[in-house]
Amino acid sequence: TVRRLRPFASTIFAEMTALAVTHDAVNLGQGFPDTDGPRAMLDVARQAIADGVNQYPPGPGTPELRRAIAADRAARYGLEHDPDTEVLVTVGATEAISAAILGLVEPGDEVLLTEPYYDSYAASVALAGASRRTVPLARAGSGFVLDVDALRAAVTERTRMLVVNTPHNPTGTVYDDAALAAVAALACERDLLVLSDEVYEHLVFDGRRHRPLASLPGMAERTVTVSSAAKTFNVTGWKIGWALGPRELIDGVRAAKQFMSFVAGAPFQPAVAYALTHEQPWIAAQRDDLQRRRDLLSGALADAGFGVLDSAGTYFVCADITPFGATDGVAFCRTLPERIGVAAVPVSAFVDDPQQWNHLVRFAFCKRDDVLLEGVRRLRSLR
Ligand code: PMP
Ligand code: GLN
Repeated sequence: TVRRLRPFASTIFAEMTALAVTHDAVNLGQGFPDTDGPRAMLDVARQAIADGVNQYPPGPGTPELRRAIAADRAARYGLEHDPDTEVLVTVGATEAISAAILGLVEPGDEVLLTEPYYDSYAASVALAGASRRTVPLARAGSGFVLDVDALRAAVTERTRMLVVNTPHNPTGTVYDDAALAAVAALACERDLLVLSDEVYEHLVFDGRRHRPLASLPGMAERTVTVSSAAKTFNVTGWKIGWALGPRELIDGVRAAKQFMSFVAGAPFQPAVAYALTHEQPWIAAQRDDLQRRRDLLSGALADAGFGVLDSAGTYFVCADITPFGATDGVAFCRTLPERIGVAAVPVSAFVDDPQQWNHLVRFAFCKRDDVLLEGVRRLRSLR
């Protein structure tokens, strides 16, 4: 393995899911749903395969899917994108993230991340030969907030890109309008590119609404927005994502993407186009159901003795393990599957400086009720 990839030998998700399988544990670690997405969408993919939609689709994505993505952004947020030049279909949001960093950041540039961060950001920055700076989210009450002053202080002459993720994996934090406005002001003032990871855009709870960063003044021209069908339609295995932004930026993302994967899976593209156009009610019902499951898991974790933090969105809730006399989340998660048959993910796997995060573990609530209840039944035995 080349030196720049050595720190990223194996992802925490793969490691914890492997432990879950070995010990037949309830997997509340890796964030993937255990129920299928909308039936009609699955039928469209099945039919596409039967109809011979099995060869390379156009590199930037099928025109039908690019139009559906642009129409969906326009309908929900009033943001206009030219489907031919400002929308790029990718192999999941993961590829959109890597391609945006590889296509827009020079070796030696700095990329600013908030911590905890989704693991692929740091690995992609390393692949690009760039360096990262991380700014921790700050604790506020039983949740987290963006530390705007710390973010501002971390920008240097070499900072090229700021990566923003809201709703946030792993904490479930959703930035409020003030945080978004502060990010926008900083990006404009310091002329930064922004990579806005909005894969959980639909999974915002308690009547709140997602607000895309690109909708703020001055942001459309400097933001690459990334989203995905994975979390919106329960198809994490389809690997259909997208990048949106101004032509000059999407050109850079496309330049990298074409040599990473060339194209994304052909029969899934008509299915995702169908779902974006016809399955908005399914998305809303799914969000409401996830909110209910968040409450179910958060309440049960609290009953089991964890210090449970607020989750306002995503698939995830974080919990403090210090009530069990534990302080090392990595050790806790490595032994949990064998000890009691549950898998979780340590939050310190998402950070550069574990000190402040070691006592937190992440649980996923995107699972069936019976799975959540069995997981919690097992967790109660920790007391
Ligand atoms: N960003 C975040 C914050 C995520 O949680 C995930 C999925 N776990 C991704 C990106 C990757 O999305 P995809 O599965 O579409 O590649
Ligand atoms: N995004 C999901 C998570 O955070 C899964 C990611 C992965 O397996 N790479 O758990």
